[in-house]
Amino acid sequence: MVIIVGGGVAGLSAAYDLANAGIPHTLIEKQPRVGGVIETRQWEGCVMECGPDSFISAKPEAMKLIQELGLAGDVIGSKDEERVTYIQRHGKLVRLPEGTTMFVPTRPSSMLASPLVGWGTKIRMGLEFFRGPETHPDRSVSEFVTDHFGRETLDYLAEPLLSGVYGGDPDQLSVASVLPRFVEMERTKGSLARTLMAARSSAKRTEPLFRTLKSGLGCLVDRLAAKANVVHGAAEAIEKSEGGFRVRVASKGTGDWMEADHLVVACPAWAAGELLCDVDSRLASLLRMIPYTSSAITQMVFRASEFDGQRAGTGFLVPRAERRRLMACTFVGTKFPHRVPADKITLRCFFGGSGNDAVLEEPDDALIAIAREELRAILGLTAAPIFTGVYRWPRAMAQYIVGHGARLKEIESHASAVPGLHLAGNAYTGIGIPDCIRMGRQAAARIIATS
Ligand SMILES: Cc1cc2nc3c(=O)[nH]c(=O)nc-3n(C[C@H](O)[C@H](O)[C@H](O)COP(=O)(O)OP(=O)(O)OC[C@H]3O[C@@H](n4cnc5c(N)ncnc54)[C@H](O)[C@@H]3O)c2cc1C
Repeated sequence: MVIIVGGGVAGLSAAYDLANAGIPHTLIEKQPRVGGVIETRQWEGCVMECGPDSFISAKPEAMKLIQELGLAGDVIGSKDEERVTYIQRHGKLVRLPEGTTMFVPTRPSSMLASPLVGWGTKIRMGLEFFRGPETHPDRSVSEFVTDHFGRETLDYLAEPLLSGVYGGDPDQLSVASVLPRFVEMERTKGSLARTLMAARSSAKRTEPLFRTLKSGLGCLVDRLAAKANVVHGAAEAIEKSEGGFRVRVASKGTGDWMEADHLVVACPAWAAGELLCDVDSRLASLLRMIPYTSSAITQMVFRASEFDGQRAGTGFLVPRAERRRLMACTFVGTKFPHRVPADKITLRCFFGGSGNDAVLEEPDDALIAIAREELRAILGLTAAPIFTGVYRWPRAMAQYIVGHGARLKEIESHASAVPGLHLAGNAYTGIGIPDCIRMGRQAAARIIATS
């Protein structure tokens, strides 16, 4: 018997493979619905993603699972040629220069023509081209970016672009864990700009950068959940037992103990730390040390005929340096046209991130009012939305801070010393959906191999 704690995409992926292998399992999920941060709602022809809206194509695990689930026909790709992102600078929206890979310029002409950064930074970007290979101990994203391209690149490119993925603070995020590809380039080649420019001219990209499901990522969760044996209730305690583990579940208030020979802990690391303190106290404290950030998303639908604001491509990012409350905004219908009817415009606004958890305490009406005020100031939008939704994700995004790699090694060594214990989820070796699927499926594969 296997118990899985946590019904996000990591736990559900583990359950799916165990079910297919005929291994009995119970997935314990404390919320009344499964999916974790993945949730899709529909409103008058609009597909509303309450959490993630797509996944990166370069990591194959999500697409592979989608194909296995028979959902390949529902997959749509991002329209990268038409993708236009803006970044706010001195209160105005400036187009992200074409050819910018994360914060690395790969098309000098578009960076030179852009008002996003000044001449000092442009010269610095040019000089980066001549750097030779270097090796550094793990350092923060801020140190890494500033070292290569200067402070302005950090403030107006790296910070807003990374906030969109991690909701994190670049002064704390570990470059080795968050941008391992760039660290490898630094080590082997030196210049990121030169390496990416060479890669760009030799590679012809055939895949879209991002993919998603036309009807929403909730379909992925639904398909996985159909295979899972789910019990709704919080796991409250875990103990070792003769056969493996006992898990106390607050299901319908009974506080029943359930027995398992394998345990997949796929809830956030802070929750895993609370549950595992009787199993291995050092492991529990290492897990609790992984910080998390919170975020809130407001979703607003407008009649296209009434929309009087600037139409800012696929959306815009607001650097922290601009000192606004809004972090980012997506024009959903431009990013994924299948998700919004032509007579409507849907905006998804992001709040929260590192140090801004307090915004989650705002009541729904207040958050919508803040979002509207921000959009009035940035886009000049005064039209009233015909639909509003607010979705909160407290302590949902694990932060890979400097030293994460070393902490992870210690976590892995403690976890592997407890027979039958498996960890999965966004706290460990990847924050995105494909990574979480991979970790869930790897946990299942280890169990299947020993059964
Ligand atoms: C707002 C937002 C937007 C994102 N956008 C993207 C994106 O576009 N693309 C992308 O690839 N990634 C994105 N991510 C990241 C990615 O979606 C998540 O990292 C991933 O889905 C997390 O999956 P998980 O299974 O590890 O955890 P979760 O989804 O957090 O699931 C953990 C589950 O454990 C349950 N749980 C907790 N404690 C207990 C307990 N004691 N007992 C039982 N159950 C418990 C929770 O209720 C939850 O359902 C986004 C994340 C957020 C928050």
